[in-house]
Amino acid sequence: KKTLIVFGTRPEAIKMAPLVKEFQKYPEKFDTRVCVTAQHRQMLDQVLDFFEIEPQYDLDLMRPNQNLYTLTADIIIHLKEVLEDFSPDYVFVHGDTSTTMAASLATFYQGAKLCHVEAGLRTFNKHSPFPEEMNRRIAGVISDYHFPPTRKAELNLLEEKIEPKNILVTGNTVIDALNYSSGKVARPDFQDKEIDNLKNLVKNGRKIILVTGHRRENHGRGFEEICLALKQIAKEHPQADLVYPVHLNPNVRRPVYEMLDNIPNVKLIDPLSYPAFVWLMAQSYMIITDSGGVQEEAPSLGKPVLVMRETTERPEAVEAGTVILVGTDRSKIFLETDRLLKNQVHYDEMSAKHNPYGDGTACKKIVEFIDNLE
Ligand code: UDP
Repeated sequence: KKTLIVFGTRPEAIKMAPLVKEFQKYPEKFDTRVCVTAQHRQMLDQVLDFFEIEPQYDLDLMRPNQNLYTLTADIIIHLKEVLEDFSPDYVFVHGDTSTTMAASLATFYQGAKLCHVEAGLRTFNKHSPFPEEMNRRIAGVISDYHFPPTRKAELNLLEEKIEPKNILVTGNTVIDALNYSSGKVARPDFQDKEIDNLKNLVKNGRKIILVTGHRRENHGRGFEEICLALKQIAKEHPQADLVYPVHLNPNVRRPVYEMLDNIPNVKLIDPLSYPAFVWLMAQSYMIITDSGGVQEEAPSLGKPVLVMRETTERPEAVEAGTVILVGTDRSKIFLETDRLLKNQVHYDEMSAKHNPYGDGTACKKIVEFIDNLE
């Protein structure tokens, strides 16, 4: 069977890398090729290096001031050549990016079977998050096989009249990636300059609050509120260090560096490679983020997460009690952080909760499913 795995951004790469590795275990059964659109260039390459994946096709489509129209059109046009060259039987896309949506359409035009990993997440508001909710809905409509991470995501697909036999609940592949990473970092010969640098940055005994943020809907006013909250946390908890790997998007970097530079216990750093980020998550006391992937990873490491979003397509995490939605309201972010820092019982309860996103066997399940198809 010929399988083509397509992705373009850092989080997609992290979540698809273990699937590539799993397919590559069975070269007698699968001819597996990887196509990267490189919607994120630098952050994508870091992930490919770590997982030792060399894409057969690299569309290299990142452009300055990229917009959704040209990006989508470019992906479709360039994927045509890849699909014609390889003629895959199955094309795998992930989640909700522009790469996902455009690759789904291109696959439909070409006629291969489309397989959607991390299928079925919904906010039920077609405008939010923008454009992700529409990207994943389009991928869902076109897909032949759907791999939702949870039962809740499966129910969303069933509501959309997807046939049950074409759905397999797998858990999230991000846990497979986390296991791969923890295993590789623990090897005696593993060396990472970034982790060494982090060891110098974070001082023994000080609580680390790890911060990340990048979402489009938080650009502007949202990030200003977030920065004001972080400033207040830093001031009122001088015994804690806020460590913030700042996303490369200029709409994020500008306000963050303008408002938070030169505060002694706020450490602004560049985005970390995946192993360094996982290392830092494991060292941290708690996490404040608007990221999807981080919400799914952190409970496996026992770290409470405050989510700076108003809506969520990850209600499992909220219900399981591993995350709290705080939006971008300055006082809410501050108060919930303050509570986790001061109330040990509340902190222990949150960090002991079970991760609803699976056990790290998602990729194995997907490969078996495809293997068993006629
Ligand atoms: N991540 C990383 N380096 C960083 C910040 C995050 O490798 O400096 C990883 C993180 O472990 C998670 C993924 O990137 O797996 C999340 O990506 P992001 O927050 O950009 O996107 P989202 O998950 O919201 O789609």
